[in-house]
Amino acid sequence: CGIVGYIGNNDAKEILLNGLEKLEYRGYDSAGIAVRSDQNTELFKVKGRIAALRDAVDENIQATTGIGHTRWATHGEPSATNAHPHQSSSGRFTLVHNGVIENYLELKAEYLQDVNFVSETDTEVIVQLVEKFTQETGNTLEAFRQTVKLLHGSYALAVLDNQNPDEVFVAKNKSPLLVGLGEDFNVVASDSMAMLQVTDQFLELMDGEVVIVKQNSVELQKLDGTPVERDPFTAEIDA
Ligand code: GLU
Repeated sequence: CGIVGYIGNNDAKEILLNGLEKLEYRGYDSAGIAVRSDQNTELFKVKGRIAALRDAVDENIQATTGIGHTRWATHGEPSATNAHPHQSSSGRFTLVHNGVIENYLELKAEYLQDVNFVSETDTEVIVQLVEKFTQETGNTLEAFRQTVKLLHGSYALAVLDNQNPDEVFVAKNKSPLLVGLGEDFNVVASDSMAMLQVTDQFLELMDGEVVIVKQNSVELQKLDGTPVERDPFTAEIDA
């Protein structure tokens, strides 16, 4: 299972699909991508191979930002509906997640009783919490931080917000996640192998950090908002 993300000015769907193919060896039961075109986020999800996902993706779509996922189901059967990305009820937020949210039932009961869930995953609570807290605070980054603080378990996350189209929000705990640095683009990947085709410069992320990835900047913070500085490392091409 794995995560990829891209924000830049090239064909996002192609970079995401190529990245997911590089992660196929890890095993998965379903896959999906979300790409932003104009004001919309378009979702493509399938049960089965990346080749089937490639066939399902509209090849005419013009998008330069997106996230992708290969799923190894832990909560909810392998199906297109349970495949990631998952969206919040309004469609504003779109999220991919690797890992397991151990307290998802408690979070549902405490914060999300009025929400209609469309999947059986533990993951969907995360994106619904981001939407709820954004409605309450008016600030996506604050809402994302608030959400991450409530999660127990393992996660690598990447989130798109239709109303902040220039940013990808990222966080991790006990699951691997890297940010890759490029000229006029940046990427997200659970394994550098997924993005070696576009860059060999990567930033390691630590548990308890939140990262705001833009086309020309990467901002690392602790959960309390304190800025974090870190130098990139060079990934081995033949890794
Ligand atoms: N627990 C999540 C699910 O079952 C994510 C699984 C994964 O890491 O692929 O959908």
